[in-house]
Amino acid sequence: MLTGLLKSFFIHAGPFSVVRALQRIKKGPCISILYGHRVLPDEVIANQADSRTITGQTSVSEVWCAIQELRKFYTIISMDEAVAQIKNGHIKTDSVVLTFDDGFQDNFTHLYPLLKKHNIPATYYVNSSVISTKNSLWFQSIINYFFAVREASVFVSFSNRTYDLSTATKRYESAFHFMRYLQANYKPEEFHSIIESVAGELRFPNEDDLHMTWEDLKELSKDPLITIGAHSYNHYPLGFCDEKLSSYEINQSINELENHLGYKIVHFSYPRGHQEDFNQHHIDCLKSKQIISAVSTIRGVNRKGEDLHRLRRVGLPQNVSKAKADFIWHVGGLPELVKSIKSKRAN
Ligand SMILES: [Zn+2]
Repeated sequence: MLTGLLKSFFIHAGPFSVVRALQRIKKGPCISILYGHRVLPDEVIANQADSRTITGQTSVSEVWCAIQELRKFYTIISMDEAVAQIKNGHIKTDSVVLTFDDGFQDNFTHLYPLLKKHNIPATYYVNSSVISTKNSLWFQSIINYFFAVREASVFVSFSNRTYDLSTATKRYESAFHFMRYLQANYKPEEFHSIIESVAGELRFPNEDDLHMTWEDLKELSKDPLITIGAHSYNHYPLGFCDEKLSSYEINQSINELENHLGYKIVHFSYPRGHQEDFNQHHIDCLKSKQIISAVSTIRGVNRKGEDLHRLRRVGLPQNVSKAKADFIWHVGGLPELVKSIKSKRAN
């Protein structure tokens, strides 16, 4: 509580601006790239038992609240503009890029009208397999499975474990536990068939509305506010794939997007995007497809001269309105600044 009040004072009463000014003198202005996933109606997010409510998903009004807060401290720019400024070594002012991963249909039906109305640029990173096949992404299928089982627990012989499904939170924890089990023990190309065999006859809820269609993407691609980028074909963490599969995952997603949308795709987002999820082979592969930027989920801001294929991002929280000071604190990369000061002191 006290920390919250101090942060609020620190940001809104001015010292935040002082720290930012000092950072700017030392390191120059920064570009913060925010990432989100699903953007849903407020009533869906309010229902914690709904399988669509998950960390990283937020509501339309919370996105609007985030945009209003960001506008007080930052310029919201497109990914093309961010790349140009980082490359030229001249970042004009502290800026933010909004990005949304996985190509969810709600990004078209709920988020896009808001962006359009307020003239806000954003980038959508899309996994082309779900657009073409209408199947769910592998991890989404796991979440669907753990929410579709009616009982309060389930024994999965595949992982030889009983999973607690007594609450929505437990169902998520179980789903993520099973995801980690698959990643640790099986090849990504085996994920789909394993999930199908585990799910058996269980029927999933209708998923027709989960991801955008090619028609939706074509409409978005005509709007200069929206940048479409690739996010791999199947959303396998690339670090878990062999070179042949990771090359396919990258190339196939870029080729399909270009074929359907009729223009060059130049931006990419690494699936999952942790440190271990991308390496030099993937970067070489992206460069051979003329991809000029790639974003991770490694937390932090970006400054002039940054490696454009290793850009850092900051997650968009579910509830900005309840923690505005924390939000701005994180977007500004201040936790990383405090961490670096602490580690310098310790050395
Ligand atoms: Zn993703």
